[in-house]
Amino acid sequence: MIFGGYACMEAFVVRHSRPVFSHERTKDESQAKVELKRYEEACRTVDEALHALMTGADDDRNTILEAQCFMLYDPEFTSTISHLILDERYNAPHAVESAASMVIDRLSSNVEMFRENIADIQDITSRLVSVLTQESLADLRGLCRRSVIVADTILPSELLSLDPSLIGAICLDGGGPTSHVAILARAMDIPCVFALRDASRKVTGGSLVALDAFQAVLYVDPDEDTVSRIRKAMEHHRMQELEMEEDAVLPAMTRDGVHIHLECNIEGLDFVDGALKNGAEGVGLFRTEFLLMGDHEYDEDEQVGIYREVARRFARRGDVTIRTYDMGADKFVKGLGDEEANPALGLRAVRFCMSHEDMFRTQLRAILRASAEGGIRIMFPMISSVDELDEVLSFFNEVKLECRSQGLRFDENMPVGTMIEVPSAAITSDLLAGRVDFFSVGTNDLTQYTVAVDRGNEKTAYLYKECHSAMLRLLDLTRRNADAAAIDLAICGEMAGNPDLIPLVVGLGYRRLSMNPASLLPARRLIRGMECRKAEELAKKALDMTSCRDVEALLEKFNAETRDNEQGRH
Ligand code: PEP
Ligand code: MG
Repeated sequence: MIFGGYACMEAFVVRHSRPVFSHERTKDESQAKVELKRYEEACRTVDEALHALMTGADDDRNTILEAQCFMLYDPEFTSTISHLILDERYNAPHAVESAASMVIDRLSSNVEMFRENIADIQDITSRLVSVLTQESLADLRGLCRRSVIVADTILPSELLSLDPSLIGAICLDGGGPTSHVAILARAMDIPCVFALRDASRKVTGGSLVALDAFQAVLYVDPDEDTVSRIRKAMEHHRMQELEMEEDAVLPAMTRDGVHIHLECNIEGLDFVDGALKNGAEGVGLFRTEFLLMGDHEYDEDEQVGIYREVARRFARRGDVTIRTYDMGADKFVKGLGDEEANPALGLRAVRFCMSHEDMFRTQLRAILRASAEGGIRIMFPMISSVDELDEVLSFFNEVKLECRSQGLRFDENMPVGTMIEVPSAAITSDLLAGRVDFFSVGTNDLTQYTVAVDRGNEKTAYLYKECHSAMLRLLDLTRRNADAAAIDLAICGEMAGNPDLIPLVVGLGYRRLSMNPASLLPARRLIRGMECRKAEELAKKALDMTSCRDVEALLEKFNAETRDNEQGRH
C-alpha cells in the first residue's frame, strides 16, 4: 500500500513501455523510399491526431499542441530525418529518434531558452515512433471519466497534469512508498497501491475494478458481494476520516506534555487548503521543483507571487520552508537536463542549480523578495559536503548583494537551512551545523543512499528500511549535532508521517515533524495518545539492537500496546 482507501469503478489502463524496433539499415534505395513514405504518412497521422486534440482544448493546451504541429514540420528536424533515411539508410523510427536526439543535443546547450522546444520534440518523437511501430502511447489525456488508473508507471509530472477529480485510485505495476509519485498521490488524497507486477497488462481498459488499498488487493470484474463489501468499507472509512477531522484544532501534545510541532510538505499552492484543514502548523517542506513540471514556466515575479501567497496563507500558523529546486532522479522535468545513466547520483538538486546559475539566481531572488514580510525560511537539498554548502551559500550571498544593490527588500534574517538526506551530510552534520540555522532530515533519500536501495524500485523494496540500524544511528547523530550547535531540527521524509514510525522519530528526539497533509490527522491522534517518555525508551532499545527485524518487532509491540490503550480510553 502507498495510501489507503477504497474505489470501485471503471479502469483506465496506461502503459509506457518504449516501443521496440530494429536498428537494421535498409538494403537499397527502393526500401529507403518505402521508409521515407512511411515517415511521411506517420507525419500526416500525427498531424491529424494533434488537430483532433485541439478541438475542445483550452488556450494553454492549444498553444502547446500548435507548437508541436509546428515542430513536426520543422525544416531542420524533417531534413535530418530524410537525410538519415535516404543517405544513411536508417529505417523510419530509427531515423526519427536519431534526428530528435541530434536536435535536442544542439538545443541543450541553451537549456533555459529551449526547454519547451525540447519537450515538444520529445513528445512529437514519441508520437511518430508510436505510429511507426504501431505501439500505443500512454496517453493519459484520454482520461475523461472518474476511473481507477492502472499503469505500469506514472511520472509525477503526468500525475500533476491530470484533473484529480477524475482519479478514483492509482494502481501501479512497480514503484515504492517513498517515490515521488507515491508522495504526490498521498498529497492528493488518492488511494494508491504499488508493486502489482503486471496489473497493467492483465486489466482491460473500461472493465470494472474494485480496490482495497489497505490490503493492496485489486479485484478485476468483481462479483456483487465484493462490490457491496468494498462500498461499505468505503463508507466506514469516510466516517472515520470525518471523526478525525474534528481533532485538527487540538495541539499535538503527548500524554506527558511534550508538544510535537506538526508541519506539512506541499508541492504547490493547490495543496495548501488540505494542509490548513488538517491543522498544519507551518510548511516544513515546499517542494518547489513541482512548479517546473507543468506546461507553464514561472518567471521571477510569478514565483514571488506563489511563495508570498503560501506565506500569507500560513501567516497565523507558522513558517514556510521553501526548498530550492530538487529536480532530477524520479522528479524528471521534461526538457531540463540530459538523461543520465544513474540520475539519483547525478546532476540533481543543488548540483543542477549550481550548473544553471541563471535559473537558480531567478529562484533565489524570488525567495528573497517573497521573504520581505517574514515567515519564510530557505532550505537547500542534497547537500553532500561542507565545500558544496559553502559554494551554495556564497552564491546565495552574491544574489543577496545583487538584490540589495537594486534596492529590493528582503528578510535579512531569513533562516537558512540544509537538508540532511545524503549519508555524508549526516556523518558531517557537526561541521554543517555551524554554517546554517536549521537542519531538516529527508529520510526518503537518506534511506535510499544509506542502504543503497532505489526508493522507487519494488524489486528491492524489501531492503528499503527506514529503521535500519544505520539509519537510526544517523538520525541520532544528526539530532545530537543539531542540539550541540543549538540549531533548529526537523524531519520531513515520509518517515515523519508514518504512524508505525512516529514513536521512534519522537523517541530519537525529533520535535518538528513535517509530513504529507493527509498524514497530519492520524499523526496528531497518535501523538496525543502516546507518552514521550516511553517513546524515548523505545528509541534507546532500538538503537541498541543489531537486527532490523528485531526493531520492527519492537515497534509492532509498542504500537499494538498504544492502540490497545487508545481503545481502552474510548
Ligand atoms: C526526502 O528525501 O526525504 C525528502 C523529503 O525529499 P524528497 O522526498 O522530495 O526527495
Ligand atoms: Mg530528498
